[in-house]
Amino acid sequence: MPNPRVRELDSDILILGSGGAGLFAALHAHKAAPQASITVAVKGLLGKCGCTRMVQGGYNVALAREDSIERHFMDTIVGGGWLCDQELAWKLVVLAVERIKELENELGCFFDRNPDGTIHQKAFAGQTFDRTVHKGDLTGIEIINRLAEQVWARNIGRLEEHRAVELIKSEDQKSISGVLFIDMRTGEYVFVRAKAVLLATGGGPTMYKYHTPSGDKTCDGLAMALRAGLPLRDMEMVQFHPTGLLAGTHTRMTGTVLEEGLRGAGGYLLNGAKERFMPRYDPKGERATRDVVSRAMFAEIKKSATPHGGLYLAMGHLGPEKVRKDFKGMVERCADCGFDLAGGLVEVVPTAHYMMGGVEFAADCTTALPGLFVAGEDSGGVHGANRLGGNGVANSTVFGAVAGDVMAAWIKDQPLREADRAAISMAIAACERPFQGTSKTNLEAIREKLYDVMWEKVGIVRDAAGLLEAQADLNALDRALDAYSLPSAERAFSLTWHDWLNLKSQVAVSRVIATAAAARRDSRGAHFRSDFPDCGALEQSAFTSVTQDKVSMKPVAFTRVAPGQTLLRHVA
Ligand SMILES: Cc1cc2nc3c(=O)[nH]c(=O)nc-3n(C[C@H](O)[C@H](O)[C@H](O)COP(=O)(O)OP(=O)(O)OC[C@H]3O[C@@H](n4cnc5c(N)ncnc54)[C@H](O)[C@@H]3O)c2cc1C
Repeated sequence: MPNPRVRELDSDILILGSGGAGLFAALHAHKAAPQASITVAVKGLLGKCGCTRMVQGGYNVALAREDSIERHFMDTIVGGGWLCDQELAWKLVVLAVERIKELENELGCFFDRNPDGTIHQKAFAGQTFDRTVHKGDLTGIEIINRLAEQVWARNIGRLEEHRAVELIKSEDQKSISGVLFIDMRTGEYVFVRAKAVLLATGGGPTMYKYHTPSGDKTCDGLAMALRAGLPLRDMEMVQFHPTGLLAGTHTRMTGTVLEEGLRGAGGYLLNGAKERFMPRYDPKGERATRDVVSRAMFAEIKKSATPHGGLYLAMGHLGPEKVRKDFKGMVERCADCGFDLAGGLVEVVPTAHYMMGGVEFAADCTTALPGLFVAGEDSGGVHGANRLGGNGVANSTVFGAVAGDVMAAWIKDQPLREADRAAISMAIAACERPFQGTSKTNLEAIREKLYDVMWEKVGIVRDAAGLLEAQADLNALDRALDAYSLPSAERAFSLTWHDWLNLKSQVAVSRVIATAAAARRDSRGAHFRSDFPDCGALEQSAFTSVTQDKVSMKPVAFTRVAPGQTLLRHVA
């Protein structure tokens, strides 16, 4: 069958995704290179999709006199199980201070304040200082709305409801030439040639039965990076947030997150018998890091679960009025599902929340493919084995801004490169596959199977036998997808076609999660192996590096601090 027609466009800078990373990159690139053509291409609508918008709790930054960037750095390294790339973590804590000031002073955000006018910072788990800046419990909406307004106010191009499907290399294969898209409104293919491309599609572990990220996030960026031959690091490190709402199987609200600040403020977790259990597992109780709390909950659910198979979150002992005032959004969300957060009990379950793993990259956001940059949740190495709550949006805004600055400089002496036309044809053929399939399998059945495989065998507790089974199951799911036939040839807004594409990405990335989890024979941060429960020697820490074909362990470089050491506390 001849290839469908491809619409072609050129742009100096092409940004994939409009979360914190994508929008910050666009604004910084525009500021540094006002004459450059910049395009933000996004699967949803700009400002209305992705997870930055969903940020509830807040943004970690060392602002208070009693706090310091060194302390924020040490919390990040220790919380990350000594697997972080220390140069990336250092850049995160240093530049978070600049970004939060830019957000308030230049971009129009207002964060909550103390009576003396200083920015209010609240407690988040796993941190030695209360440093989480927030706007009530709807911080992400404040950040994304202001960023989107600023992007709209500038001469920045937009391709909305354009789904990136393949990174296309140059004819000589030495750098990137551009990106192939499907215009979801028409089903038409679009190729955008660019001197610099930013991958900021935001990862997102939506392949698990219970998950928090937005539905537009299906690991497309990571799947494209894998097909381009780029190594991904720390892919076994999938963070489970302890408090996902458990409202039954009939509602998509199940799995959505109840923010960390609830535990930070003193919320209790109770088992099916309504007894508090966390102090039995960790002296920090509910304020232990997410990995510790999720594992404790996993164990407790097996002993004493609630009617829906989870546990309870209790806030009433803090005073219902205070809870209503401090967590307005959370109280309303729970009420929508029939729970009284302020005074009663809410059923919760650990829920897949965030991928610490992603594309290997340097502190200037460059990758192994010249011209391709990465930032935000698509990147790996900043958080190591575990992300601290509040370090996610800091990561996407800090590295988004870095990428914008660096891309603006990069395009000055780079040409637009001719694309590898054969690669475009092959990518189109891969997308067209379900229009020629033969099997009438139900996509919903494939998705349910994927959810179960990942939850049961590649979830909170793993072992060799389960991971081996999972790898075979995932290969079978990929074959089922390849045989699948779409019920209709309609392409405009074909949700089923996009569901198929989503599942292809999710299965491809699930496979490397399982591969990396099988390769790591210890338990660190978010990754727990019941057959290798020890964390191993911290001095010999190594991270997993995985491509489509192989997995290897690479030593962590302790460039700033080694296990057993700490950075001196610095007070300005
Ligand atoms: C419910 C929830 C609450 C959270 N709360 C906090 C918190 O309190 N503090 C914190 O630090 N972090 C929090 N996080 C994590 C935080 O949201 C992420 O760390 C961060 O926002 C990711 O930013 P990003 O720009 O990388 O990706 P996102 O903001 O997710 O943006 C990704 C963008 O890529 C687009 N995209 C995806 N696929 C494609 C494709 N194929 N083609 C084109 N575009 C594509 C999406 O549509 C979206 O626009 C939370 C996450 C969730 C889900």
